[in-house]
Amino acid sequence: MFKNILDAIAELFASIFGRKSKPAPKPTVKPTPAPIENIPEDGSEIKPDTIVLIANELDHVDVKPNAPDVEFEHDIFDQPETPVTPETPVVEPPVVEPPVVVEPPHTETPKPKGRFMWCLDNGHGKKTPGKRSPIFDDGATQLFEYEFNRDIVRRIKEQLDKKGVKYFITVPEVDIDDFLEGRVNRANALQSDLPKIFVSIHSNAAPAATANSWAADSISGIETWFFHGSQRGQKLASIFQQHLVDNTGFKNRHLKSKPEGQFYVIRKTKMTAILTENGFYNNKKEAAELNKDAVRQKIADAHVAAILEVEENGL
Ligand SMILES: [Zn+2]
Repeated sequence: MFKNILDAIAELFASIFGRKSKPAPKPTVKPTPAPIENIPEDGSEIKPDTIVLIANELDHVDVKPNAPDVEFEHDIFDQPETPVTPETPVVEPPVVEPPVVVEPPHTETPKPKGRFMWCLDNGHGKKTPGKRSPIFDDGATQLFEYEFNRDIVRRIKEQLDKKGVKYFITVPEVDIDDFLEGRVNRANALQSDLPKIFVSIHSNAAPAATANSWAADSISGIETWFFHGSQRGQKLASIFQQHLVDNTGFKNRHLKSKPEGQFYVIRKTKMTAILTENGFYNNKKEAAELNKDAVRQKIADAHVAAILEVEENGL
């Protein structure tokens, strides 16, 4: 990516000032799109001097049901599910009606099955640079983050199909390049009668000496990111984090958010959005775990349990 940008700048200068020396071969790559600012894609790209706030998933978050989080464009749960009763006094209260029980008041119109539209984002594509573990001792095995993310989403999808929960997979294609903007645009453009929720699924990387060396054993575990200041985001993250830690037994790295430079998919999605970082693929021990079928199933099950909890209780 960085090299592409440098190449694009070099091209630009060459086109303005003319080429001095050897002409560069015609670029075979597509023209570099306007840089998507300098927004990191996931937890592995956070620079050491970045301010990261950590919240405990057990903290109480007071989400007012009808209060719009106006400052956050992605929180679109602004409208109450049923129209607010007008302030005008009721003329004659009906006498014969028995008192309504605890049922929610939206029973007249047939509701589609499911409460939310879950936009499942299998972060990164096959061609995304980096995002892979060092090679294991067998000289062959390597964990590719895109493959892991996709596999988790596939396992989630299987269960949501059975439960009748609505979902949308942002990037079903495998052979696709860096598609950061596209995955967000697809989720934003999706027409849905149900409120949308965005869940981006990742595995993490810790700082290491080189791309081909393992990071320290001490850095491990699961964390969930939300849009800084979004109460719904924090509540959603908290539900996912609790299920993930309980189900896997992985170290709890709690909830995280950044006041500035938040992840692109969290910032640009016009809906409540979280990003789960499920273990570290460059922690040798943890990567071995993440390659196990049973562990992947636990991670997927935890996502499903969180989704079902939100489907049941709302957000
Ligand atoms: Zn990632």
